[in-house]
Amino acid sequence: MSEYLHVEIEPTNICNTVCLHCPHDAISRPYGKMTWETYTAALDQVMARASHFSVEYAGMGEPLLNPLIYRFVAYVKGKGSASLTTNASALTAGNVASLIEAGLARLTISFNGDDKAIYELMMGGLNFERAMKNISQAVEASRGSSMVVAANVSVTRQVQGRLAEIKKYINDMGIEAIAFSQCHNRGGFLKGDLICNTPPLPALQSGRCDIFHNTLFVAWNGDVLACCHDLAGGTRLGNLEQETLAAVLQKKREAAAQGVHFSICQSCNDIYRLVNDVTADGRGIADLVYDLYANDPPASAALSPLAEWFYQLYAREGRELRVMQVLATKIQAQQVQLEQFRAVLADAGQQQQIQQQTQQALQAQLDAANQELQNILNSRSWRLIQRVQRLRERLIPPASRRERIFHKVLGKSL
Ligand code: SF4
Repeated sequence: MSEYLHVEIEPTNICNTVCLHCPHDAISRPYGKMTWETYTAALDQVMARASHFSVEYAGMGEPLLNPLIYRFVAYVKGKGSASLTTNASALTAGNVASLIEAGLARLTISFNGDDKAIYELMMGGLNFERAMKNISQAVEASRGSSMVVAANVSVTRQVQGRLAEIKKYINDMGIEAIAFSQCHNRGGFLKGDLICNTPPLPALQSGRCDIFHNTLFVAWNGDVLACCHDLAGGTRLGNLEQETLAAVLQKKREAAAQGVHFSICQSCNDIYRLVNDVTADGRGIADLVYDLYANDPPASAALSPLAEWFYQLYAREGRELRVMQVLATKIQAQQVQLEQFRAVLADAGQQQQIQQQTQQALQAQLDAANQELQNILNSRSWRLIQRVQRLRERLIPPASRRERIFHKVLGKSL
């Protein structure tokens, strides 16, 4: 047995937010939370079949709303790796500690804004301050543990111009691992282009989907669907409580062999369906998405269809023009700085001038005092004083008996 399986488990499709980029209100399959029986029915088969496996707790709801989530994670501890994506609303200190204790390897936080207004707009009214506090304590608790905290930014129109700021904000919170995900229409369920203006993907007609190939998506009720974008349940391949995993995987293989042609796939523009199309220089999709909107130097040339598609986007978004505009702004800012520097220099010159003037004034005062002294030394009065002094010393030598008598008689010195 050397099979690897990546399983996406949907602990629930209930959510406590109304994120702009998520068509949650378009869900038409039943709502609910995965039970222990459903979970073990699926996971026991996965563990029996695969030599190694990974489990990702995500789907269409907030995983932490299912109170069994800690038990779910602990069930695979030491057998496979477990990761979870959350909107951070329920990341209390106790919940984070429980996730770490259960053996969660990676906690990914959906993060779509670096200030209160944009965050609360994008994250469906979550409280910014509370969410930041939750994230900070998760980062703090993860230090020294085996759990990595990461962030995922869905690059919608609303945040396209703020990626550098968002990246810095997340990094400053102590999170290094950031994925920038090009927003997509969630299997065609997210309508219009007010939030997401990603164009159709290339080579759609081939029906290729690496997500379908590489991930076994298990909905909260045990249904295996093509992927988490199936909000209606129309791609149902079976149910792991009622059917064997082997039978379901066989149906998946057959569907893949014919090309993935479910109706939701026709307009699906999730770039991860072409996940293997990294650029010729080995750059990943997250880098391409970041480069597309951030104002860094352009990415190096790359040849794959996905990269070409990205360069079309670059052109459409006027990215080169934006880079030039940013450069022009930087040059302007430098000119302003230069002017400020010149003003400081001029001011320093003025200060120097003032100092010179002060020195000159002092010198003039000193010269005048010297002149005064010379005048005194050359004056008749001074010469007279000198003469009297000499006469006095001759007539009355200092410390002589005559001086003592002189003092006694006069009671004072000359
Ligand atoms: S093409 Fe899109 S909708 Fe279809 S299975 Fe793949 S990810 Fe899901």
